[in-house]
Amino acid sequence: MGFIENELEDVRKLAQQNLPGCKLVSCVKTMVRAEIKRTQFKAIIACIQFPEKYPDLPLLIELKSKTLSDKLLQGLTNVCENEAKKSIGNRQVMPILEFLQNFLIENPLSCCYDEINNVKKLLTDDHDEFKLKQKTSSILAKIVFKKYFFHMKIYVPNNYPEASIEIQNTESNFPPAFQRHILGQAKEIARQCVESPLKKGKPNDPPFKPKPSLEKCVCFLVNCVKLLPNEQCQFCKEQCLPVDPQFIEPNEECPKHVERIYCGHLFHKDCLFTYMKTPPFGNKRCHTCGEKIFHHKWCVSDKLAETRWAHEQARERELAEVEDFFK
Ligand SMILES: [Zn+2]
Ligand SMILES: [Zn+2]
Repeated sequence: MGFIENELEDVRKLAQQNLPGCKLVSCVKTMVRAEIKRTQFKAIIACIQFPEKYPDLPLLIELKSKTLSDKLLQGLTNVCENEAKKSIGNRQVMPILEFLQNFLIENPLSCCYDEINNVKKLLTDDHDEFKLKQKTSSILAKIVFKKYFFHMKIYVPNNYPEASIEIQNTESNFPPAFQRHILGQAKEIARQCVESPLKKGKPNDPPFKPKPSLEKCVCFLVNCVKLLPNEQCQFCKEQCLPVDPQFIEPNEECPKHVERIYCGHLFHKDCLFTYMKTPPFGNKRCHTCGEKIFHHKWCVSDKLAETRWAHEQARERELAEVEDFFK
């Protein structure tokens, strides 16, 4: 038997035995085709051919995947070719299959390779960080804008993107209410990526399919951190948050306390109340995005606000009459 036939016989024996998750689709002289699978999403098909002068030349390797990024596969193909070169003169197939199997085990974040690269393009500040921790399948992210920051750990579960990312251990110097709101919204975005909406779509809509949540969530967080510090009050047009976060007004009763309305835009507390208490009534909307204004500190209906305003006006007229009388 020739060199290749001997190697193929051993590959048939060893691949299933030593590499759980590796399935040989074909193992003949013209082509070795193996599927290496860790989860439904983390799966690679390796197509391996023997060059004419094998084993004095490296194997010809082509990697395919229905789920993993093309760019990742290109890079991985180059690395595999270098691996094969290390075994020149010897058997090369098993080392390559082992290498690929280990790659999938040791790099759980490979399932969001493109998303990670897209997010990195958004993080352009010198103090921004996006550190991959393959060992724990997590990412340490620091999003910074001027003196404001939002730090977090993002965990990518093994069955990603079927399950969404988890955002953990957050730390920030935005006002506490902002932190809660930002984190709550980000978690909601993640949830919506993987859970079908309660409201049924049209009968002809395709069935719900979980979507990757990493890029969507981090984009939202980056936008919050990089835009909020410059946001103006929708009423008086002054910048709401102080340049230095240590001067944030913590007292909720203070007229200048910054309030975030439901759409995400900002008001000073008194500016919000003044705006809500004065006409025209009936359709109070955010100047910037046009959304109807909701805020937990303002629970008065438009009708009641209008009545109160009318009362106040009447009282002012009365007082003016009294004043006139004494002049
Ligand atoms: Zn204001
Ligand atoms: Zn708005």
